[in-house]
Amino acid sequence: VAGPPPELSTLLEWADDARRLGVRVNADTAAEVDTAIALGAEGVGLCRTEHQFLGERLPLIRSVILAADPEARDEALLALEHAQHEDFKALLTAVGDRPVTVRLLDAPLHEFLPAPGEAEAAGDPAAEQRAASLREANPMLGLRGVRLALLHERLYPAQAEALFSAWVDVAATGVTPQLEVMIPLVSLPEELQAAAGFVRDAAATVAARTGVRVPYRLGTMIETPRAALLAADLAEHAEFFSFGTNDLTQLTYGFSRDDVERQVLTAYQERGFLTASPFARLDPHGVGALIALAVERARTVRPDIKLGVCGEHGGDPESIAFCDDLGLDYVSCSAHRVPVARMAAAHSALRERGSDRNGTAT
Ligand code: PEP
Ligand code: MG
Repeated sequence: VAGPPPELSTLLEWADDARRLGVRVNADTAAEVDTAIALGAEGVGLCRTEHQFLGERLPLIRSVILAADPEARDEALLALEHAQHEDFKALLTAVGDRPVTVRLLDAPLHEFLPAPGEAEAAGDPAAEQRAASLREANPMLGLRGVRLALLHERLYPAQAEALFSAWVDVAATGVTPQLEVMIPLVSLPEELQAAAGFVRDAAATVAARTGVRVPYRLGTMIETPRAALLAADLAEHAEFFSFGTNDLTQLTYGFSRDDVERQVLTAYQERGFLTASPFARLDPHGVGALIALAVERARTVRPDIKLGVCGEHGGDPESIAFCDDLGLDYVSCSAHRVPVARMAAAHSALRERGSDRNGTAT
């Protein structure tokens, strides 16, 4: 995979010498990882496993969600586990010995349920009914993330077993990715504790099957205001946090990520209430303040907790400077933003040094 042109590569290498903040990529496939590594990503900060089920593979996840009975669900989970095993082998091979944060399923149901009438037309009226019973007025606030995993208790173990056994296969080729398993949309420490238990059990199952204890870290997304406020309690169960600033922005402002608020945001920018969309630039007074508070509280419990940002803001220079000032470990952004993030992190570090020297910001 081609990297940047030579002059830019040299400039980016200078930037790497200057920066403190790490830069990772949000990537779901081996091809995206290859591209991002060529652009200088140091690892994967977010693999959204639900994205591995979009398109042709939608039936794999649909049949788990819409299974008629526990046996049908177990069968569907087995198919999902097999597919994930292949996904993860490819992903981990591309990652190499770098760190990789794999987020267990966070599937907003509206992206995965069949359209109204679709199951009926396919000759499955019972699935049509089950799908209808799962449709939500606010799916982004609904049965997502860890919540779904607590209703379908075999879901996360199936994914985690696929991941750990893929690691064992890849390690046999001499490659040992630094695995980080991440739980999404947590707002209660109890949710994280339960999910951590699923992952631990999966690691034990794979160890019994293969004789290999897969090394991994367990962490959580911080993407609800409650998670930020309860950071100290969450840090008891998490070795790392990744701030999901997309959802955190949605939930802090109460602005939907997807809907009509776009008009409001434009109008507010025209009025001068906002200088940029808060979904694009970290708002230091609201979302940023919650992050700062969470960082402080988490460090009281676990001083060495690893901290990153994986929302869209991880690719925005001003937001990157904010993360650098807070002393986060890394930002994670889409592949094409990786060079921008490397430059922005260097800029932030150099500005900090400049202000140390002169006593004022430069
Ligand atoms: C986020 O909420 O910031 C995040 C990275 O997760 P997603 O965009 O997948 O909800
Ligand atoms: Mg999110």
